[in-house]
Amino acid sequence: MIHKVYIGLGTNLGDRQANLRHAAEALEPKVSVCRASSIYETAPWGYADQPNFYNQALECETSLTPLRLLNFLKKIEINLGRVKNFRNGPRMIDLDILFFDDLVMRTERLEIPHPHLHLRAFVMVPLAEIAPELVHPVLGKTVAELLADVPDKGSVTAL
Ligand code: AMP
Repeated sequence: MIHKVYIGLGTNLGDRQANLRHAAEALEPKVSVCRASSIYETAPWGYADQPNFYNQALECETSLTPLRLLNFLKKIEINLGRVKNFRNGPRMIDLDILFFDDLVMRTERLEIPHPHLHLRAFVMVPLAEIAPELVHPVLGKTVAELLADVPDKGSVTAL
């Protein structure tokens, strides 16, 4: 069975554009990318003393189950992180499952939809570019409607 999934990407180390490209390429054997948002630059909050993030959202198709998809994404994070970093150094790429069909699951390892996605401008702005009509299966609102309520949208700008 083929599932439609949305994946959120973030990176703030090394060659950020290359990291996003390499992550999308690494998905391909098991996860085919149907649509990619623009790349957005996001000012960090919390620690101001770090480079800006680049964020992107991907619409994909896969026959993997949710847990196998999570394991596959974690493997990609590790593989890409090792390219230019010390062992145990900061990760160059973060990959999150945002939506998986209209599935709702809450386990210790995996929550779908991603629990904070509707609060984060750096997730919602790219997602709204490629899937504004998608309905959040728990909140019952479209991505475009949820985006309207997100604070700090101005801190996320297309490259
Ligand atoms: P992160 O800090 O983004 O690397 O995520 C840490 C952990 O969050 C992962 O190892 C997962 O077990 C867990 N997690 C829970 N829900 C999700 C999700 N929807 N997508 C990705 N990771 C998730």
